[in-house]
Amino acid sequence: MVKWNQLPYDGPKYDESQDTLIRQSSIGQMQLCPGRIGFMNSPKYLAMISEPLAFGTMVHHIISQDIIENKQQDRLLLSMNEWVEEILVDDYEWSLTKVPNPRDFFAEITVAYRTWVDRVKPTLAGEEILACEEEFFMYLGKGNTGNIFLKGTADLVTANRLMDWKTSGRAWKQAKADFSFQASVYMPLHRQALGVEHQDFWFWVFNRQQASWELLKTKRTVAQINAALATAIQYGKQIEAESYPCTPVPEASFNKQRGWYCKPKWCSSWNACDAKFMNDGINEKEVAVRSW
Ligand code: SF4
Repeated sequence: MVKWNQLPYDGPKYDESQDTLIRQSSIGQMQLCPGRIGFMNSPKYLAMISEPLAFGTMVHHIISQDIIENKQQDRLLLSMNEWVEEILVDDYEWSLTKVPNPRDFFAEITVAYRTWVDRVKPTLAGEEILACEEEFFMYLGKGNTGNIFLKGTADLVTANRLMDWKTSGRAWKQAKADFSFQASVYMPLHRQALGVEHQDFWFWVFNRQQASWELLKTKRTVAQINAALATAIQYGKQIEAESYPCTPVPEASFNKQRGWYCKPKWCSSWNACDAKFMNDGINEKEVAVRSW
């Protein structure tokens, strides 16, 4: 297993035919319930679509174009019906005709972007940008049949820190940034990929209620990063072994109540999973449908 001080810069390269790839977002899903990933190949699996998810994707897109082209994206603001539709179709198999009020949706994307230009972009002046929305792979160690890799894409890597844009229905608490697994594993990922030793991560969070961007800064110690690497490889080995024990009740729940995530609205595996039957008043026969 790799550690912060021993990350190989010329380690093995990912080989799709024998290696296992894990994303930080998959680890988040598996920490809730491994079945959320385990049924992904089932014909009954329903890939998630929701207004908050799609909103975040659109805001990320316009911001990354601004950074990559280094200019304000007035063109994208005026052509949302084209590129928003394209992303909805490509990423979510959805379409603008299924969005209840596209005009409001566009208006809020515009607000998020314009306030980012006013509040966040000026803070990037003078920062040396190393990567924007670029995908990297990190070698985590050996599995049983091949190597285990983690794949990640930070929104922005500068010479000084890592940054990520988040969109949220309400303000984030500092603890959310401090316990973020993404922050912990993206530091070694970019150390291995780009040779930058960042232990600072800035989350810029767009609070949709307030229509404003808020900054949450967080740091990690080497011990915390090593602990995250140890966790990541364990989940990688679980995926390699195709072992996905379902946990509809959170481990920390002493009163044995179903977790919030084990509902037709929140679990893409709901229609495929038999572990959801708990006789706890939830209608487990409800068929999940994709909805905005
Ligand atoms: S329905 Fe519940 S138990 Fe089944 S995979 Fe989803 S969260 Fe896990």
